Amino acid sequence: MRYLSEYRDPTIAKKLIEDIKKISKKPVKFMEVCGTHTVSISKNGIRQVLPENISLLSGPGCPVCVTANGDIDKAIAIAEAPGVIFTTFGDMMKVPGSYSSLSEKSADGADIRVVYSTLDALKIAKNNPDKKVVFFAVGFETTAPTIALSILEAERQGIKNYFIYSVHKMVPPAMAALLNLGEVKLDGFICPGHVSAIIGSKPYEFIARDHKISCVIAGFEPIDILQSISMLVKQVENGEAKVEIGYKRGVSSLGNTKAQEVMKKVFEACDAEWRGIGVIPESGLSLRTNFEGFDASKIFDVDVPPTKEHLGCSCGEILRGVKLPYDCKLFGKACTPENPIGPCMVSTEGSCAAYYRYGEVVDGV
Ligand code: SF4
Repeated sequence: MRYLSEYRDPTIAKKLIEDIKKISKKPVKFMEVCGTHTVSISKNGIRQVLPENISLLSGPGCPVCVTANGDIDKAIAIAEAPGVIFTTFGDMMKVPGSYSSLSEKSADGADIRVVYSTLDALKIAKNNPDKKVVFFAVGFETTAPTIALSILEAERQGIKNYFIYSVHKMVPPAMAALLNLGEVKLDGFICPGHVSAIIGSKPYEFIARDHKISCVIAGFEPIDILQSISMLVKQVENGEAKVEIGYKRGVSSLGNTKAQEVMKKVFEACDAEWRGIGVIPESGLSLRTNFEGFDASKIFDVDVPPTKEHLGCSCGEILRGVKLPYDCKLFGKACTPENPIGPCMVSTEGSCAAYYRYGEVVDGV
């Protein structure tokens, strides 16, 4: 297929759904790891057209949602430090930390600015040499290379007042952590397309090999997703567990090696705390020692109050695939996109926001 319209063609979709119904015999649970997949599945009504024996669960693939409360609290404390201009992607503004959000602090007078790229943040640093400009580096392997480039660019231009607060995370260790927790028996992963465009398919191989779980890397159009489900079903029905690329136009087995090089030059793996999962070893990205002059977590000595979770919010369980958004008592009542209690309702990639926006009604797990 060459054109985008073909990836949305109802005739091809119908044929794929019929094929899935024909071959799928076993009850299976597949997790779509990526938040963009969750949105596409909800938007295109994919859950509703699948046979009843196939359940799709959302996973920890929304970078905003998996940011721990403690990290948001620390970001807020840095944003309130004297002489700081705090920059962030828009999605993080409304995410509630333990006591407040960046949006509330901005209304209280803190200089917090929404940027669309790290280069915008760098420009702000260049234009405000008397201020310390901090960028809230949230994201997965997809955004890490661009953040790494901003550090290299700051170094090249001799910009000394640009810092990042990195809460970057890597997806494969989180997938392994979920399997090790053993709370949900998964049969397959719909692996993230964007992350895989950077890292390739190889980093998932241990999941198929050691955990015997099928993996298919999927694109984001309805046909991409249906095709990946059909590939997963075939693997399960054949008793296989391997990594397949269903998104060949975006992903190769080795990924984007140039982006990986930039990422590795600037970052190294570190332990990271994930909302709802806890600390996962070697799942984060921190700046290497030779770039620590750019590291806001080392430069700013701020007091952070003790972390507390929001009563009744089930974001943690949703990110682990243990609950669906409708299982949270606050869903659509106390918690809505206008008045979000947890990050899964704030982020455009969050499961609660996707279910709310597209009115999905599905049975509990
Ligand atoms: S509905 Fe709101 S409170 Fe409940 S899990 Fe989702 S984001 Fe958290």
